Amino acid sequence: MAQVAISNVAKAFGTVKVLHEVSVDIADGQFVVLVGPSGCGKSTLLRMVAGLETVSGGTIAIGDRVVNHLPPAKRDIAMVFQNYALYPHKTVEQNMAFALKLRKTDPAVVAERVKRAADILDLSPYLKRYPRQLSGGQRQRVAMGRAIVRNPQVFLFDEPLSNLDAKLRVQMRTEIKELHQRLKTTTIYVTHDQIEAMTMADKIVVMRDGRIEQVGAPLELFDRPANLFVAGFIGSPS
Ligand code: ADP
Ligand code: MG
Repeated sequence: MAQVAISNVAKAFGTVKVLHEVSVDIADGQFVVLVGPSGCGKSTLLRMVAGLETVSGGTIAIGDRVVNHLPPAKRDIAMVFQNYALYPHKTVEQNMAFALKLRKTDPAVVAERVKRAADILDLSPYLKRYPRQLSGGQRQRVAMGRAIVRNPQVFLFDEPLSNLDAKLRVQMRTEIKELHQRLKTTTIYVTHDQIEAMTMADKIVVMRDGRIEQVGAPLELFDRPANLFVAGFIGSPS
């Protein structure tokens, strides 16, 4: 586990500024949700933490290391995306093991980590199956399994549930929270869904047009929104 410090981080694509000096502190083991309308810069910020986008200004630190110039593989993070393409011709077990094999991890360690992840995610009976033989929820769990086996310091989720139907979304929300309660891995979770934010977060960061409008615990934002935007966004049904 590690704390993440995002300090005055800015991002421009060419001459277009999409993030304006954003600062967020994420404590060790905390579950922080970045929420805001489509296009406000959530994915860009998360991708900078992951090392998938360069930083135009400011610093990002994971643990006690500034990681601005580290490639993704050296950052000790694991990311789960909305389009979590599994390898169709690999089994559940092989899908989960793949990233570790690429890193030339000892096969005994790979086997032990895959077994542990399968236990945690209730995937043990499905290890020899192929993705097409799984339900949507099971596939989503395999995607999480691929992240868990890497034992990262930080989990990054980018709208991981937006391709699932409403009922499954509610179930996976609970599962991701339970996973966090069990592993206590520092997590940054991006969503445009205020219900997801309210039910999952220790701390919510409300974003709008590349800026942070308010940071606080779910009930703080609900009871004391800083402005009409936060009130409207947090208070309205999804
Ligand atoms: P969100 O995830 O909150 O929907 P994004 O971080 O994806 O928002 O995008 C923030 C802004 O940055 C948007 O205006 C988007 O069009 C722009 N943007 C994102 N990626 C790129 C890119 N590679 N090149 C140019 N503009 C981009
Ligand atoms: Mg996005």
